[in-house]
Amino acid sequence: MRFGRWWQGKLFEGGWAGLHWPREYGGRGATPIELFLFAEEYTRLGAPPMIDIGVGPSLVGPTLIHHGTDAQKRRFLAPILTGEHIWCQGFSEPNAGSDLAACRTRAELRGDVFHVSGQKIWTSYARFADWCILITRTDPQVPKHKGLTFLLVDMKSPGITIRPLVEMTGVAWFNEVFFDDVLVPRENMVGALNAGWTIAITTLAHERGGSAPHARLAGEMRDVLDVARRLGAAGDAEARQRLAQCHIETEILRLLAWKQVSGLMRGGQPGPEGSYLKLVWSELDMRLKQLALDVHGPYGALARGSAHAIDDGRWEYEYLWSRAASIYAGTSEVQRNIVAQRVLGLPRGA
Ligand SMILES: Cc1cc2nc3c(=O)[nH]c(=O)nc-3n(C[C@H](O)[C@H](O)[C@H](O)COP(=O)(O)OP(=O)(O)OC[C@H]3O[C@@H](n4cnc5c(N)ncnc54)[C@H](O)[C@@H]3O)c2cc1C
Repeated sequence: MRFGRWWQGKLFEGGWAGLHWPREYGGRGATPIELFLFAEEYTRLGAPPMIDIGVGPSLVGPTLIHHGTDAQKRRFLAPILTGEHIWCQGFSEPNAGSDLAACRTRAELRGDVFHVSGQKIWTSYARFADWCILITRTDPQVPKHKGLTFLLVDMKSPGITIRPLVEMTGVAWFNEVFFDDVLVPRENMVGALNAGWTIAITTLAHERGGSAPHARLAGEMRDVLDVARRLGAAGDAEARQRLAQCHIETEILRLLAWKQVSGLMRGGQPGPEGSYLKLVWSELDMRLKQLALDVHGPYGALARGSAHAIDDGRWEYEYLWSRAASIYAGTSEVQRNIVAQRVLGLPRGA
């Protein structure tokens, strides 16, 4: 995380942070196509991935630019670009994941202050975050999508307890976050009271459709091919077939991503088509990591720190981590539902 903050600062100094943000907010007004080109070159050169501090620049920034007040933009946008503020996304709850609108974390407005109580879960980077975008229930009496409010919460506020959750990789990126009468000033509300669902949808659309995952996967495909050559696996007929198949699918993903970006250039905002891309890249991600492990043979499954681990256990970690791709940012089943109904226009099942 320390490195991530520092690197974000370096990107900012070089004029490479928030490329797609409008110039008036410190970005460079890059078009989606320019952003894609940058992502491809960034990965091709082996520059560090920015997942850990990505919530701010990729999700919070665009959401605030779209829906925030002038005061919120002035206060929050610059520190996101410089890496001064790390953000986390407090959306999911134990009983509100795919069905996000079932959120039960309460925020009660008393005077000009919200009193927030409840629990979030799977909140990535919460332990390191300075701020959190939080979906809360402000009116339990109305239909569930209508009683939600979107808040910006200072993670150092009294009443917040964070418990790390260890993933099967052995690392604890995500956390449980408990709110016990946490005070949030009304000025930290984004959009109107009880109109948080619209704001959350903007955030989710950027999460599913605004990135360039094909660039990362293409880089990893190149690495797997290198390993296959190094270990002699490329001489094996079956391995060659699978490597070729994965390479073809990586290329198809790149073309789909470019097709989507053309749509973005026409429509402006990421829409439900992002669900299609999310589905394709997350499932390809898993197949690619499985292939990487198979190409390595039994030693590939050794974890970081094991005497005979290859590349310091990189692919064992990547393989386990890739399992999460079909869950975060909306599960594959949910993406299929969205694609069926909102992209293909199919009728709902009985
Ligand atoms: C690595 C990782 C990082 C994450 N980081 C964050 C974060 O920073 N902030 C945050 O808020 N959340 C985060 N999440 C949570 C993530 O968004 C949820 O896990 C996800 O939305 C699914 O919700 P759930 O886990 O409650 O599963 P559920 O919604 O309970 O789903 C359980 C199963 O039922 C299926 N299902 C559910 N509804 C339907 C339906 N309508 N049709 C068909 N099938 C359905 C699902 O596909 C799944 O297989 C993260 C998750 C992971 C894995």
